[in-house]
Amino acid sequence: MALISANLATLRLRIAEACKTCGRGLETVRLLAVSKNFRVDAVMQAIAAGQREFGENYLQEALEKIAQIPRAGIQWHFIGPIQSNKTRAIAENFDWAQSVDRLRIARRLSEQRPEHLPPLNVCVQVNVSAESSKSGCAAADAPDLCHAVAQLPRLKLRGLMAIPAPITDTAEARRTFGALHALYEKIRQSGLEIDTLSAGMSDDLEAAIAKGSTLVRIGTAIFGKRET
Ligand SMILES: *Cc1c(COP(=O)(O)O)cnc(C)c1O
Repeated sequence: MALISANLATLRLRIAEACKTCGRGLETVRLLAVSKNFRVDAVMQAIAAGQREFGENYLQEALEKIAQIPRAGIQWHFIGPIQSNKTRAIAENFDWAQSVDRLRIARRLSEQRPEHLPPLNVCVQVNVSAESSKSGCAAADAPDLCHAVAQLPRLKLRGLMAIPAPITDTAEARRTFGALHALYEKIRQSGLEIDTLSAGMSDDLEAAIAKGSTLVRIGTAIFGKRET
């Protein structure tokens, strides 16, 4: 039971070390705990250990957890593929949608975001590894999609998200995250006020932080191996 809080402590040290190595302030990198496949009690343990932002991939599983966990001070991020039939529940229950990769989905999220809630925070997901099997828009299409999303009244464009193909080679990881960061900077310099580059998971967070990630999404290193 003490494991999750110990894992979080170790992970925070790892993030601090990665920040120090590349001369970044610790406050420039946020930690998203990816709790997919883990139960409410695991999330509660992470909350008790000070974690406040959680990421979920599967809508039904996420809604059950969100309903059972006190909402105050907690931010829920949807990070899984978004089909049209999921947009309403995401717009009604989440604080962030990080996996927006087409305008049709963004429009639905904006239309369905309830008036009593603040605008839904959105990242545009980019397919940096250009794999046909993964979701995410093509890098070349990301600037136009970002500008279109930024116009939607009930969304707040926050930045980019990417899930690179698993990389074993550090140099290649840095190239991939470097290309993503260059795209992020290009979009920022085109006049959009964005502040979030969501990149880096349990195995590659150092390379992501070295290349400008502002939000690492970590599951395994906090909760352990997922049962399938
Ligand atoms: C599962 C998942 C993660 C966490 O991956 P770990 O390797 O367990 O840290 C991060 N981001 C997304 C989009 C995921 O689906």
